[in-house]
Amino acid sequence: MMIEEEIVIIGGGIAGLATALALKRVGVQARVLERNPELRAGGTALTLVTNAWFALRALGVDHKLKSVYQPINKSLVTNLDTGAVQELGFSGTKENREDTGVITVHRKALLETLAEELPSDTIRFSSNLISIKSETLKDSSKATLLHLEDGTVIKAKVVIGCDGVHSAVAQWLGLSQPLSSGRWAARGLAVFPEGHGLNHELKQYLHAGTRAGFVTINSKEIYWFVVTYSSLEKDISANPELLLEEVEKKLAKDLPSEFLAVVKETDLSTLSWVPLLFRAPWNIAFCKAQNGCVTIAGDAMHPMTPDLAQGGCSALEDAVILARCISEAHPTATNDNQWLEKALKRYVEERRWRVAWLVAGAWLAGWVQQGGGGDQQWWSGMARWFRDRFYYQFIWPRIRDLIWFDCGDLIPASKTD
Ligand SMILES: Cc1cc2nc3c(=O)[nH]c(=O)nc-3n(C[C@H](O)[C@H](O)[C@H](O)COP(=O)(O)OP(=O)(O)OC[C@H]3O[C@@H](n4cnc5c(N)ncnc54)[C@H](O)[C@@H]3O)c2cc1C
Repeated sequence: MMIEEEIVIIGGGIAGLATALALKRVGVQARVLERNPELRAGGTALTLVTNAWFALRALGVDHKLKSVYQPINKSLVTNLDTGAVQELGFSGTKENREDTGVITVHRKALLETLAEELPSDTIRFSSNLISIKSETLKDSSKATLLHLEDGTVIKAKVVIGCDGVHSAVAQWLGLSQPLSSGRWAARGLAVFPEGHGLNHELKQYLHAGTRAGFVTINSKEIYWFVVTYSSLEKDISANPELLLEEVEKKLAKDLPSEFLAVVKETDLSTLSWVPLLFRAPWNIAFCKAQNGCVTIAGDAMHPMTPDLAQGGCSALEDAVILARCISEAHPTATNDNQWLEKALKRYVEERRWRVAWLVAGAWLAGWVQQGGGGDQQWWSGMARWFRDRFYYQFIWPRIRDLIWFDCGDLIPASKTD
């Protein structure tokens, strides 16, 4: 079966749904292809920083989440090796700019909030892209053929790959494979039906190359994580009971009892173990992330380690900027696709350096905070010394400035002329 579509977005995650919504806001309809039969909420929760809230405001949905979730204004970081406690501020900056602070939300709530703003037939579930081909049409314009696992072929004018870290669209564009950071993360959601009774805050612990923490989402749920250099001896990632045992008895065994008490209440269905991957920043800065009318957004373009909580936040920025580039472009009279190609090219040029810096910043933040590898190399000692004396006090405020970014509003195409 052959179907024709104007704009097709591959992937119904944060980037895909936000891009579809941003396009809708500027009066452009898109189809989203998602390989799963429903919206997936793997990862359970995520923290959204100020730049994400600006993007969600442009998408017109920030108020829906802000009415449910409360901001956290600071994090307490305890170095278990020295006993020192440092404070990281999240809101307000030196220039006293507008700042929402940091809010942790359920991943599913974010996806549903984006999806419910879209026309009901926008997302085509169980649609797994297996190959992409480009075709030159009779009028010498180009179309892209998307072959799905169920035998459907979609002829699309524009393709936006929002298909995550192992993106088929990024591969088709020739981007390098993501790299391993050598670190892994276990995370889960602890549920306290009678209430946990803790303050609404983010607590973090540093210990011998491990960074762990927990953040309250509401009065009954706490999201926790452990990021470590040690891999699992056996792959037990699909067995939540064994994975929880591994976290409690090995990965988190030296962490304080308040952390272990949270982990103990984990809802097993939310537990996950993932390697932390990223794309080399120079590859992002110099890659060809657009070819004709095909481009990429979100993790497909810039997978990054989660140390600045920016993967999802920057995917939301991508969506707003991509839609703005399309809405501000002017269709040419000859009915070819050159104006669209130019719009996508402009989007990539606007994004590449910002996201390359975020990827680099996230990698460095992770490396420094986890003591430069956690082993006994000379640079590990230097990294720990730097972290304990300078990072949180002097570097973190600069990083916050790097993260702070207002992508502006979206104006429907008819009003931009
Ligand atoms: C441990 C950890 C913690 C994190 N914490 C945070 C945080 O606190 N804050 C934050 O902002 N970010 C965080 N991130 C990063 C964040 O999870 C990602 O950046 C974000 O999910 C990227 O969204 P995406 O839509 O680009 O990709 P994804 O969420 O991976 O979505 C891709 C979608 O495409 C679909 N898909 C893939 N291939 C195909 C195909 N061939 N055909 C059809 N559909 C396809 C998938 O099923 C999926 O639905 C964290 C990441 C990790 C690993």
